[in-house]
Amino acid sequence: MPSNAPDVRRCVACREHAPKSEMIRVCRSADGKVFVDDTGNADGRGAWVHKNKECVALLKKKHALNAAFKCAVPESVTEELDARV
Ligand SMILES: [Zn+2]
Repeated sequence: MPSNAPDVRRCVACREHAPKSEMIRVCRSADGKVFVDDTGNADGRGAWVHKNKECVALLKKKHALNAAFKCAVPESVTEELDARV
């Protein structure tokens, strides 16, 4: 891969890859708190989703965050994503 390739991540909803600039990161910290990570580099395990309504809707439908983090993610997190797309 060329060194100037954009930093891409995979969307947990549609599973397509995209540059981080087109994605929103959701983070689960070491103490298990899940939150929308606007900085994109908070400590913890990250899951990325496209910054669009389709993927946030798909994410909710598939409970993709629960799968990505292997835990029950509060609805408030997906509501926060909704507010950002
Ligand atoms: Zn997507």
